[in-house]
Amino acid sequence: TEELLRKSEMHSAVGQLAAGIAHEIRNPLTALKGFLQLLHVEGDKNETYVKIMSSEFVRIEQIINELLMLSKPHELNFHRANLAVILNDVLMLLETQAIMNQIHINSELANPLPFVECVENQIKQVLINMLKNAMEAMPSGGEITFTVRRHDQNHVLIRIQDQGIGIPEEQLRRIGEPFYTTKDKGTGLGIMVSKKIIEDHGGRFQISSIVGVGTTIDIILPTLP
Ligand code: ADP
Ligand code: MG
Repeated sequence: TEELLRKSEMHSAVGQLAAGIAHEIRNPLTALKGFLQLLHVEGDKNETYVKIMSSEFVRIEQIINELLMLSKPHELNFHRANLAVILNDVLMLLETQAIMNQIHINSELANPLPFVECVENQIKQVLINMLKNAMEAMPSGGEITFTVRRHDQNHVLIRIQDQGIGIPEEQLRRIGEPFYTTKDKGTGLGIMVSKKIIEDHGGRFQISSIVGVGTTIDIILPTLP
């Protein structure tokens, strides 16, 4: 247990450091991006360079935004939120992307949905990360089943099930390590950050997967009366 405790303390210290660095980098990055846009307007000789630079900026921004999610939870604003509102926002946000990828999101939502004590944007971010992963695992389309139901007296289960490529055993062990990705344009931060957020909310995060069948993400969160 002592070893485990030390490990989790170290993890959160590393998380805080990462979030701190991300925060410091954000301002100079915004300035650089602004000047790049100005250059782009003034002369198009270097079109290709500007394009490459822009896409690299987008990449750095993605990494920074994900690392910023690791900010100290007690500095964040936890409040009572209706899960129905959160889910609705997330599903609306991803609707177009799903349609474009020939993916149908089949939601099976308990009625009524419970209230949770949370940082709304963080929970949204987790669900977006997981639904994006699910879509990215189904290059030729298919169905995502999104189930939300009571887990027990004071917990809710959020399950995201895809029919994607699945994750081989030896990869499954590494998933959630910072920067571990199998994608060309991946950051390898989505699962690590999402797991951390769920744990900061007193919840549990589990992945199970069968190659060629699909992947299931289970998120269990405490509910409010
Ligand atoms: P990223 O999506 O940027 O690669 P993540 O942390 O979100 O980073 O995911 C890490 C890796 O886990 C992915 O690169 C992929 O190999 C695997 N993975 C995550 N979700 C799924 C899924 N639903 N189906 C198959 N593989 C997945
Ligand atoms: Mg991802």
